[in-house]
Amino acid sequence: MNKKVVIIGGGISGLITGIYLQKNGYITEVLEKNAISGGACIGWERKGCYIDGCLHWLVGTNPSSAFYQLWKETKVLDDDTEIFHQDDYAVFKLDSGKTITIWGDKEKLRQELTAFAPEDKKNIDKFIKLIKRFESIEGPIDRPKDLMGLGQLLKIAFTMAGAYRLVNKYSKISCAEYFKRFKNPELRECLTSFMAPSYNFMSLLYMLSRVTNKNGGIPIGGSLELSKRVQNYYLELGGKIRNNAIVESVDIKGDTATGVILQSGEIIPADWVVSTTAVEHCLKDLLGGKYPVKEIDLRLSDMDKNPIYTFTTAVFKCDADLSCMPLSTHVNIDPPIAFDTEYTHLTVRNYSYDKTLKTTEGSTVVQVSVRGNDHMYFWWKDKKVAGSYKQEKQKFGQTILDILQDKFPELNGKLSVIDVITPCTYERYLNSRHGSFQGFVRSTKSKTLPGNSVIKGLKNFVLSGQCVFQGGGMPPAGCMGRFSAQRICKKDKKKFVY
Ligand SMILES: Cc1cc2nc3c(=O)[nH]c(=O)nc-3n(C[C@H](O)[C@H](O)[C@H](O)COP(=O)(O)OP(=O)(O)OC[C@H]3O[C@@H](n4cnc5c(N)ncnc54)[C@H](O)[C@@H]3O)c2cc1C
Repeated sequence: MNKKVVIIGGGISGLITGIYLQKNGYITEVLEKNAISGGACIGWERKGCYIDGCLHWLVGTNPSSAFYQLWKETKVLDDDTEIFHQDDYAVFKLDSGKTITIWGDKEKLRQELTAFAPEDKKNIDKFIKLIKRFESIEGPIDRPKDLMGLGQLLKIAFTMAGAYRLVNKYSKISCAEYFKRFKNPELRECLTSFMAPSYNFMSLLYMLSRVTNKNGGIPIGGSLELSKRVQNYYLELGGKIRNNAIVESVDIKGDTATGVILQSGEIIPADWVVSTTAVEHCLKDLLGGKYPVKEIDLRLSDMDKNPIYTFTTAVFKCDADLSCMPLSTHVNIDPPIAFDTEYTHLTVRNYSYDKTLKTTEGSTVVQVSVRGNDHMYFWWKDKKVAGSYKQEKQKFGQTILDILQDKFPELNGKLSVIDVITPCTYERYLNSRHGSFQGFVRSTKSKTLPGNSVIKGLKNFVLSGQCVFQGGGMPPAGCMGRFSAQRICKKDKKKFVY
């Protein structure tokens, strides 16, 4: 008789776990607390417009990448999925009236930066060289490290030693520290502020190298469509999804997971339980804090060393075709926006690149984000407690509207706020830590999480989802899905098929 696996969470990780387990002959059921699957990879509609809630880029859109294979196996990308590769990846609109474009082409980028700051030619050349070097750096995702044999580990150590050294070196340096060597103050300021606060320089190199290598495109159709594709494939393989199913706890008998208990009181028995929820929610709530995991508990106890990344975003309907505007524009703001601290940068993202996304006739959706960490969440949480949350959201929407009209006078009278998203939105929707929608940030102080899913002392349970990997994002979510299925097959002495 086939074994049953209950998967907590119907995000990308949960659905991918289900896909691989179905392929390996298990009976699986995904339990998702929300009315639809997809988790953080979703989109929704307001005032006739589709708001994409996730993908700004997807690592693994280049067929040479191992992630591409993973996405094809799970229908994250299918044969018909079109990929948009942004030519002008980001544009900085400077106070001086000048602009700096971060091109998706290395040579064009070099020329742009050198023309802007000839005094920094040497530094720019070195920066471009590093981006090029990072294009070929990709960790092995064939299986989790603890399931690799000695031979495979030695091969990795031998072939990737140089890459690991570089990753290690630039993980310890912040963008501010690296770009200190640039003489041009405007260029220095732009490159320093490119990543969200706390991210290390390695993360910037990783991101830009995926873009320049055409390995970080955007699937046309949007995040919701992507999740639906994966969900439909899982269902086609015979999987079962229960939406509006809130898991209250893991049912444990004698240190063995034997199923889950829903908030409704229903017990769902299983031979294996996989949790893909945010890791803090899983350890503290679903497992009741009874099974400590040292590497994760250490991170949870020190949020300054191990921050999370979140946004406050205002979404607008713009009654204009913005096809000639860059995909992503970075602007400085003065006076700054004050939440927990003063924020001096905004990112304006326009969705005209994807004509398949629903909008009202002749309009475009624009999302404007301020990027923060745990402290931004606490600021919004306080407003919730004080009862002024709704007012503050409206105030934020209006403030951003005023800024947009000032910075982009051509949009005057064409913009209306259709939604405001805060870290509390993500906390409510995903049960995530401090409103995070990814894992722990790759900061200069954090050590890489090993991505180990085994909890000592608890049998037939797999700790999964993006948060078990440093950084998080779709690739870790996908990998953890595959890895979870591989672990279960290995324990059950089954040959893993895909
Ligand atoms: C604004 C935004 C932009 C992003 N941009 C990118 C990007 O450009 N590139 C990229 O790679 N990634 C991006 N991400 C991150 C990406 O969406 C996530 O990495 C990925 O979707 C995580 O998948 P997951 O399955 O691991 O976790 P989740 O999507 O969080 O799935 C966990 C699921 O568990 C459910 N759940 C929680 N508690 C319970 C419970 N008690 N009972 C039942 N169900 C429960 C949740 O509802 C959720 O559906 C972005 C996310 C957001 C929000």
